[in-house]
Amino acid sequence: MKYNRILLKLSGEALMGDRQYGIDPKRLADYAAEIKQVVDQGTQVAVVIGGGNIFRGVAGASNGMDRVQGDHMGMLATVINGLALQSACEDAGIPTRLQSAIQINEVAEPFIRRKAMRHLEKGRVVIFGGGTGNPYFTTDSAAVLRAIEIEADVILKGTRVDGIYTADPEKDKNATKFDFISFDDVLTKGLKVMDTTAFTLSQENELPIIVFDMNTPGNLIKLIQGESIGTKVQL
Ligand code: UDP
Repeated sequence: MKYNRILLKLSGEALMGDRQYGIDPKRLADYAAEIKQVVDQGTQVAVVIGGGNIFRGVAGASNGMDRVQGDHMGMLATVINGLALQSACEDAGIPTRLQSAIQINEVAEPFIRRKAMRHLEKGRVVIFGGGTGNPYFTTDSAAVLRAIEIEADVILKGTRVDGIYTADPEKDKNATKFDFISFDDVLTKGLKVMDTTAFTLSQENELPIIVFDMNTPGNLIKLIQGESIGTKVQL
């Protein structure tokens, strides 16, 4: 296997499937099946999940809500998604732990780095909920932060597009995909991979990011096996 320990970042919106909001149980089950293939090969899997399918702090703020209040709601939304994914993983037969950056002890373990690493070594999937635990951050930042902390080999950012393009492929038919791109080129070309805070943190810590299409079955395992899927951002 090319990677021993990965951090998989899934957006909240990915969980919606064809719905307008909320969680699609079929999509959840599909993701759990993809994760199981990888775990069965002995790769350690940590997951950071977003909350955009339920709530975004920025959306609240644009409607006049206090931003911090909205961000708290967003972080709680990631815990809800984390619980849903934990349930789906367990249904698929994968032992799974949810650790939250916000103390919510009846619902999830607190985030404890050493404990998370121990779970991973035992073959358990660890889902990190609650983002970074701080307002004004995103779950992309949480993904990079946790990946560095647990010494993951790579961040796999599962999206609905199959990589990073010269322009938005959903708007520009002439857009072409990169197989590899450097952190510097992403910045100079103004390409959107993650928000700047998350992206810079990844660059400074030399943590590669692979953007790939998580909705194509088999992509995750192929990546772990070393196939060139999606776009790899590296130094
Ligand atoms: N959030 C936050 N701090 C964090 C992570 C998330 O305040 O460290 C809040 C923020 O309001 C964000 C929401 O949680 O909009 C949901 O996360 P995100 O937008 O990153 O989810 P995704 O786009 O991946 O679904």
